[in-house]
This record gives sequence, C-alpha cells and structure tokens, in this order.
Amino acid sequence: MKNRNFLVVFILLGLLSSCSSQKQSNKLKTVVGEVEAKEERPKYAMVIHAGAGTILKENMTEDNEYNYKRALYAALQAGEVILENGGTALLAVEVTIKYLEDIPLFNAGKGAVFTNAGINEMDASIMDGNTLNAGAVGGVTNIKHPISAAIKVMQNSDHVLLVGKGAEEFSAKQGLEIVDPEYFKTEHRWEALQKIKAKEKGTGAISSENPDFKFGTVGCVALDQFGNIVAGTSTGGMTNKRYNRIGDSPIIGAGTYANNNTCGVSCTGHGEFFIRYAVAHDVSAIMEYTGATVEEAANKVIMEKLVKAKGSGGLVALDKYGNITMTFNTAGMYRGYVKPGERYVGIYKDDQ
Ligand code: ASP
Repeated sequence: MKNRNFLVVFILLGLLSSCSSQKQSNKLKTVVGEVEAKEERPKYAMVIHAGAGTILKENMTEDNEYNYKRALYAALQAGEVILENGGTALLAVEVTIKYLEDIPLFNAGKGAVFTNAGINEMDASIMDGNTLNAGAVGGVTNIKHPISAAIKVMQNSDHVLLVGKGAEEFSAKQGLEIVDPEYFKTEHRWEALQKIKAKEKGTGAISSENPDFKFGTVGCVALDQFGNIVAGTSTGGMTNKRYNRIGDSPIIGAGTYANNNTCGVSCTGHGEFFIRYAVAHDVSAIMEYTGATVEEAANKVIMEKLVKAKGSGGLVALDKYGNITMTFNTAGMYRGYVKPGERYVGIYKDDQ
C-alpha cells in the first residue's frame, strides 16, 4: 500500500515536472519566435499611395502613365535614402510627402483640387506609432507643405488638430514656408471644378465628387531601423467642397493612424466614409483584438465593411515586421513600396 502511494506521488511529480518543462519550452519557443521575427524585420520599409479611384488603363495615355510612375519611384527613392542611411521614419515620411506635395499631378500641395469658391484648402496629418503622438492641420490655404505644418503641431503644440487661419498663423510662427495661395492653382484642377459645376447647374444638387471619380491624396507609412512606425497623409480634399468641409485625411484614426504594436495606416477615398468607419484605427484595432495580419485587417475594412457601405477608396499600411498591404476597392490606386532590395510601383488593380 505504502509502495503504491509512493508510486502515485512519483507519477504526479513526473507529470507536473513534464508540464512545467513543456511550459518552459513553450516559453522558449515564444521568445525564440519573437527573436526570429524581429530578425526577419527588414532594416526599413516604406509604402506610399497617391490616390485611388476610377483609374483605368484604357483612359490613360502612355505619357501620363509614365509620369505617374516616375513620380512614384522618385518619391520612394527620396524616403528610402533617409531610411537606408539610418534616418527616422518621421523624416522619411515628411520628405516623401513633401516631394509628392510639390508634384502638380497629385491632389496635395501644388495641384490640390478647388473648393466651390475656387480656392485650394488643404488638410494633412501625421502620427508617430512609438509615442502615439499626432498632429494635423485642416483647411489651410497658404502653407507650402501642409505635412510639415502637421508635424509642427505634433512636436511644438499641446494640440492635435489646428484649422484655418489659426493653423496658418501657427505655421508662420514656426518658420514654415508661406506662399501666395495662387501657388497651388493648376489648370487641370480648375477645369475639373468647372466640369462638376456645369453638371450641377440647374439640378439644385450639392455635389463634392470628383467628376471622373479620381482621388489624388498622398500618403506614406514608414518603418525605420529602430522599429518605429510613422504614418502621414496630405490632401486638397474633394473637388467642389464647400462650407469649410474637412475630410478624413487630417482626422487621426480616420485617414491616418500609427501604433508600433500593430501597424501604420494612410487612407485615400471618399472621406466621409473613412471618418464614419474610423478606417485607419479600425485596421489597427482588428489586428490588436483578433490577432489578424495587417493584410487581413485591411481587407476586412476596405473590401468588406466599406464595400457594404458603398464607400470607395483604399489604404496603404505596414506592420512592425515590415509586412505591407496596399488594399483598395476602386479600379486603381497609385501606390508603391520599398524594402532593402525590393521596389514596387503600381497603378491598376492587376499590376503585379
Ligand atoms: N480622402 C480625401 C478626402 O475625402 C480625398 C482623397 O483621398 O482623395 O478629403
């Protein structure tokens, strides 16, 4: 009897110790897994977009396609130079977006779309995934690089979002370049406004759609060698907007979001939907709460939730391991990414 009791205790002890060594080895696996995953993280990664919409090959001239692609490659290169030389994601995002803001092809900075009153009102935002600090400006008309104004709000104010005259005054005091509002005007955007106004005439409708349903907002998300993720977005908003309408681009959680633990996101599309569905934050939240990958989370929001709601657009995002997704429910999206030894630019849905 005594011997039998001894045997039971012995077996129990054996079981317990095998459980705990199982736990230990699981723990070890997790640690090893994390280390491996971290080692797999590229030195840097960066993804950009320059708007989504009805962008079809049959409507694009060869010259235009070339110009768009060249601009996207050059923007990627501007950011990559910083990242590969050990610069921060914040600087890479600023330089890349400034580059895109200077190109009249895109709806941000020079080349921004016109409001109903015939002016250019711009919005921009930035978020730092390490500190969860953020900054944004809305409805600004004379700041050459709205993305830099958003960064100044993040770094040098107690606020997240400044709009209109106040944002302009703050930016001037911060020493940012202020330009004559005429600087932003371009012929093709002016024509687009006339086209939409002509369509609207006599119908009594108030429309703020782009006539050819092409957006052109620009955005960038970067991961640097320190593991920090930063996301930024800059736009002129939607053609023919009025009443100081502000879209999703300067709204943290709607058009832009970043969190080192999940991902960084920059959106483009019909802003009202992106605000209502808190799109950028939703992607991060889905990852955080369900363990979904960045691609799965983006698909859920853009291809399921927004499609159901009839909200058009897309987003670019990357996670802490440099996994990238460029997801859109429109015919096309100007987009691209870089990682060490990898470079991609695409426009249409089936661009590989
Ligand atoms: N999302 C922007 C807005 O609604 C437009 C765009 O992405 O082109 O203001």
